[in-house]
Amino acid sequence: MARVPVKLVSWDEIVEWSRGLAERIRESGYKPTIIIAVARGGYVPARLLCDFLGVENLVSIQSQHWTEAAKMAERAIIKFPYKLDLRGHKALLVDDIVDTGDTLMLARDYVLREWRPDELRIAVLQWISSVAKFKPDYYYIEVKEWVWFQYPWTRLEDTMQFIKRMVEETYKETGKREWTYKEIVEKFKEWYGIDVGETYYRDALRMLVEKGVLKVEGEKYIYTP
Ligand code: ADP
Repeated sequence: MARVPVKLVSWDEIVEWSRGLAERIRESGYKPTIIIAVARGGYVPARLLCDFLGVENLVSIQSQHWTEAAKMAERAIIKFPYKLDLRGHKALLVDDIVDTGDTLMLARDYVLREWRPDELRIAVLQWISSVAKFKPDYYYIEVKEWVWFQYPWTRLEDTMQFIKRMVEETYKETGKREWTYKEIVEKFKEWYGIDVGETYYRDALRMLVEKGVLKVEGEKYIYTP
C-alpha cells in the first residue's frame, strides 16, 4: 500500500476527459463565447475545450493559495488582478479539479465582480465531491475518495516535491541521510504507488541538488536538513 494515494494521469486521458467534458457542455445547450482558464491547472483543459467547443476567445486568471508567513494562515489570492470588460459574453471558467474549491470560488467571485460577463459557468475535469465546498456546473469525473492526481503538466514539480518529502520524513523517522539513485526510485514507487520514469527522476534530483536539498557525493545523494 502506498503511503500517499496518487493516481498517474496520462496525456491521452486528459484529451479523452476534455472531450467528454466538452460533450456535456454542448449537450446542456450552453454556448460560451469566451473561456477563462484558471492558472495554472486550468490551462491545458481550457485550451482543449476551446478546440472541442470551437471557442476562439481565451483569457486567464491566476488564483492560488498564499501562505502568510506571519500568521501561518493560508488563504487564496488573485495573483495578478487586472480589468476586463466581458459584458455581452457568456463565459466558461475552466480548471483541472475542484478539491476544496477555495481557489476556484475566489476566481469565480472576482470574474463576476470585476469582469461582469452576462453569464458565467464553471467546468472542471474532476470534482472531489467528498471535500469540495461547491459543485461545478460541469465536470467529467466525480471522485469520491480523495486522491492526488499526478497530471502530466505537474509531473516534474510533483516528482521533486514527492522525493523531498520522502527524504525529509525518512530522515525524521530513521536518521538516514545517504541515498543511492536506485534506492530513491524504489522508495518512490513504494511511497506513492506510481512510476514516473527515469528522465523525471533525474531532472527532479538535479533540481533538488540546485536547491540545496540534496548534495551529490560520488554515487550518493546526501540529504542536508
Ligand atoms: P485547494 O483550494 O484545496 O488548494 P483547489 O480545489 O482550490 O484546492 O485546487 C487548487 C489547485 O491545486 C487545483 O486547480 C489543482 O491544480 C491543484 N490540486 C488541488 N487538489 C488536487 C488533487 N487532489 N490532485 C491534483 N491537483 C490538485
